[in-house]
Amino acid sequence: MRNNIDGHFLLIGLMAYPIRHSLSPQMQNTIYSKLKVPYVYLAFEVDQKKLPDAIKGIRALGLRGSAVSMPNKQLVCQYLDKLTPAVEMSGACNTISNDNGVLTGYNTDGMGYMRMLKEANIDVIGKKITILGAGGAATAIVVQAALDGVKEITVFNQKDECYTKIEAIAKKLNQNTQCHVRVIDLVDKDKLRKEISDSVVLCNATGVGMKPLEGKSLITDPTMLPPDLVVTDCIYSPRKTKLLEIAEQQGCKILNGIGMMLWQGAAQIKIWTGEDAPIDYVKEQMGFND
Ligand code: NAD
Repeated sequence: MRNNIDGHFLLIGLMAYPIRHSLSPQMQNTIYSKLKVPYVYLAFEVDQKKLPDAIKGIRALGLRGSAVSMPNKQLVCQYLDKLTPAVEMSGACNTISNDNGVLTGYNTDGMGYMRMLKEANIDVIGKKITILGAGGAATAIVVQAALDGVKEITVFNQKDECYTKIEAIAKKLNQNTQCHVRVIDLVDKDKLRKEISDSVVLCNATGVGMKPLEGKSLITDPTMLPPDLVVTDCIYSPRKTKLLEIAEQQGCKILNGIGMMLWQGAAQIKIWTGEDAPIDYVKEQMGFND
């Protein structure tokens, strides 16, 4: 417990519902302590009904900022003063910065994924990647990857409401960036095989592989994964999903979702405090070393 909190400390929030299970308060406060910066991070149970008042509270109480999670990531955008291009494109914000009363919305999920690849020396700029999924995580990754200079992105998803939403986002990205994004029905396994074979990275951004779908994988035929492919999974619990197990057996380099989570948090810390997060220290403190 920190016992040095004085009147100069600033509050950073996390507004979501439900939220008590989140690892973020522990992770963020561990980092602030290590960096010796005067911030405290607390989780607040804020649902969509309470969100407008909670945003007013950021301004009134002078919070330094806030993280935002479900169910507020889309709704929050309308209450902010400025949005980054990634938030404009995706329509989702997970981070608010309060700069003298001006609230700016960021999305650090995609930033975290791209940084994870960079830290692992995986170069995707000017290249092609394939993504399984079209929900919040997939959308953040697709948008950030397109803005950062990935040349082609193929998204595979089942035909649900996420599919329709990401089709609209793909259209915007195709009009406004150099990236070509296409969306294909997940049932088309021949196309999936072909798109993966042309890609440098495959990313699972669905919940398939974690509870209640732990032990399941959207790819069951190992021959769909060439050994020079990098296979990533946004899931971090379990550390090694069925997909990552299959990929590892094929000789592929694999990365689980811990890096994405840590680096998205690091991006938030940079925004709020200007400091670089001590990632290796956090991994050790949080027991994230594999
Ligand atoms: P979401 O609910 O917004 O999207 C879920 C996606 O999975 C949708 O595209 C849906 O069509 C697809 N899907 C669900 N069930 C499926 C099935 N049986 N077969 C095929 N597709 C299916 O969820 P999200 O927020 O995008 O999260 C997706 C995953 O990413 C989760 O496992 C989550 O834990 C993880 N995640 C990790 C991080 C990180 O920092 N590592 C951040 C966000 C999300």
